[in-house]
Amino acid sequence: MSTHAPQAAQAVTLPTTLDEAVAALTAMPAAVPVAGGTDLMAAVNSGQLRPAALVGLGRISEIRGWQYLDGQAMLGAGLTHARMGRPDFAALIPALAASARAAGPPHIRNAGTLGGNIASAAPTGDALPVLAALEATLIVAGPGGARREVPVSHLLAGMDLLRPGELIGFVSVPLLHAPQVFLKATGRTGPGRAVASVALVLDPARRGVRCAVGAIAPMPLRPLDAEQWVAQLIDWDNNRAIVPEALNAFGEYVAAACIPDAAPGEDGTVPPLPPAVLHLRRTVAALARRALGRALS
Ligand SMILES: Cc1cc2nc3c(=O)[nH]c(=O)nc-3n(C[C@H](O)[C@H](O)[C@H](O)COP(=O)(O)OP(=O)(O)OC[C@H]3O[C@@H](n4cnc5c(N)ncnc54)[C@H](O)[C@@H]3O)c2cc1C
Repeated sequence: MSTHAPQAAQAVTLPTTLDEAVAALTAMPAAVPVAGGTDLMAAVNSGQLRPAALVGLGRISEIRGWQYLDGQAMLGAGLTHARMGRPDFAALIPALAASARAAGPPHIRNAGTLGGNIASAAPTGDALPVLAALEATLIVAGPGGARREVPVSHLLAGMDLLRPGELIGFVSVPLLHAPQVFLKATGRTGPGRAVASVALVLDPARRGVRCAVGAIAPMPLRPLDAEQWVAQLIDWDNNRAIVPEALNAFGEYVAAACIPDAAPGEDGTVPPLPPAVLHLRRTVAALARRALGRALS
């Protein structure tokens, strides 16, 4: 571990193992971990954040790759979007690779990491709906070499937050060996933050479809009823065939589940949704329909 002070008031610690990083954070409770710095340094530069000290995670080689364990891929939190976008990773977890390729311009993808995307927990985090659809689990490193598992959905829902000194070490993702799709709508051409996104994965062993909608709420939304409904319409033994009308109906089902109608007024009539909300609902419906169509094609 090396420590230097670029400014008199601010220490930067550069540990080389996960446990050293946790120890540094535990020793300096005011210190903040930094991985690629794409979110954190933006907050520092805009004056929103003034960390007393930084613990850099960039030299921890154990979290920069992945390994296989019991049918799962154990992804290091330090994997960059650029690395996850490469073909060898795409062959393993296609939806996560697609979300990584969509995560901002190249300089952001080169520096930004999986762990940073999760810890920032921005509604527009592109990895988040994919991890929700995959029902991924975080391996969190804590003081004294402790490790605990936290479902990513629990962290994003605020049910189980990182405790002082803890770091996301790894993300455990099931290897489903089946088509997966991530689609994102932005408000502009070229790289941009999602207005809405949809991740859809097929789980042939369980004859299941899992879908998560990102960017339209503080955390990814899972339309569970729509997933179950469409899964029983798929002919799993016959090339995963489905009647074309079911694709449209699935899109509408997902969109209505995630963006419901307004509550009825006192006279019992349902007021129309505002045009912008209606547009968003149509966007979600189109993304979900296309995602299912591509996964089954
Ligand atoms: C111009 C621009 C465009 C962007 N476009 C997109 C986009 O299209 N899609 C998208 O998803 N994101 C986008 N982002 C956001 C950002 O690039 C991602 O969220 C990125 O994955 C963050 O990773 P990082 O390594 O840079 O995190 P950092 O900035 O280093 O850290 C972010 C937060 O996570 C914490 N942290 C980091 N690693 C860990 C860890 N292992 N354990 C615990 N806490 C940790 C830090 O303390 C900090 O609070 C964009 C950012 C910018 C500046």
